[in-house]
Amino acid sequence: MITFEAAHRIVLENSVSFGEERVPLSEGLGRVLAEDIAADRDFPPYDRSTRDGIAIRFSAWEAGISSFTIQGVAAAGAPQITLQNDRFCVEIMTGAMVPTNADTVVMYEQLNIEDGHATVLQPVRLGQNIHKKGGDTEKGEVVLKKGKKIGPSAIGVLASVGKTEVLVKKLPKIAVVSTGNELVAVHETPEPHQIRTSNSYTVAAALEKEKIVATRLHFSDNREEIKAGIDKTFQNFDVVLLSGGVSKGKYDFLPEVFKELGVDQLFHRVKQRPGKPLWFGKHRASDTTIFGFPGNPGSTYANYHVYFLPWLFKSLGLKWGLPKIRLAEAFQNTTDLTRFIRASTYLEDNELCATLVKANGSGDLTSLVATSGFLIIAPEKEHSAGELLPFIPTEKTLP
Ligand code: AMP
Ligand code: MG
Repeated sequence: MITFEAAHRIVLENSVSFGEERVPLSEGLGRVLAEDIAADRDFPPYDRSTRDGIAIRFSAWEAGISSFTIQGVAAAGAPQITLQNDRFCVEIMTGAMVPTNADTVVMYEQLNIEDGHATVLQPVRLGQNIHKKGGDTEKGEVVLKKGKKIGPSAIGVLASVGKTEVLVKKLPKIAVVSTGNELVAVHETPEPHQIRTSNSYTVAAALEKEKIVATRLHFSDNREEIKAGIDKTFQNFDVVLLSGGVSKGKYDFLPEVFKELGVDQLFHRVKQRPGKPLWFGKHRASDTTIFGFPGNPGSTYANYHVYFLPWLFKSLGLKWGLPKIRLAEAFQNTTDLTRFIRASTYLEDNELCATLVKANGSGDLTSLVATSGFLIIAPEKEHSAGELLPFIPTEKTLP
């Protein structure tokens, strides 16, 4: 049995790159950008008015002119016009091109408009209310660096530089496999000795948050069925996430089946709770990475977040790190195992705090919904209320 730190290190050392692909802009959100994006023109591309009002030439105001004859209107989306005379002004709308010869915009709130004339009522500054061409970013400058997850604002930048398609990191093809004779499908009514399968739905739903559409499979606790099923799965997927079948029970066939299929076991069993029987390895022949999560829902869920997610992030070239959270109550880990403790979060004085969630062991599925993440507690460690601890968010942690 190895320590949590050693297991975590081995998992991260075995990250994989899945290459790159082009996707339509509309599918880019949440993907990892695989190309630097340069501005195809200046930002903004022309001197644009930031107010509705009039455009004037500042030198005219400086020379004592405060009432201007309205020459015309500059609307957003209309080609640039020319201010024909220093005594003239052009009514201008937000987003419109500032006319040639004009250099200053006065907003309507500071004007009196009557009989085709605009009188300026307040002092004016040269260049006011104009967003200068290239003032944010110049043409050719990198506006988005590769290696970052694409968020809504990056989608906006990609749109504005004309990227109908974007190069992103490819996502792995993942099979989420449940095992166990006690499991029946969701639409079925379980017999007294059965339960409906839930882990494969939980894991597939968690993967959806990473933009991965997984394939759900189920194998019964039958050695030959598992062996044939797993073998086929290796051929079709980059990653197999299994739940159940890796503990010490009579029907936990996976470790032996893996051996028979020539899988390279990188570790089995970790000094941790929940999820001690965690199994991790690689099927080199098909280049498949295998995570065998113990079947208890709390174990599968914790191990998914503790091991698989950082592995996925590293594989996609993303940085992985954990925030610290303030512990609201004392906790003593009397075991020699690293503990992943279910916690729910709340804000106090704008600081994220964690209270412990009561759970009936790792099999307690229903209390997982009250859990916003797991606190990581080192073996034989005692923590007082108020201490800061590393926290793995599993759900939205802020209200
Ligand atoms: P195992 O790791 O196969 O020994 O399973 C441990 C516990 O987790 C057993 O009580 C199983 O019934 C339960 N379990 C295993 N797989 C699932 C699943 N996909 N959904 C819900 N519970 C499961
Ligand atoms: Mg089982």
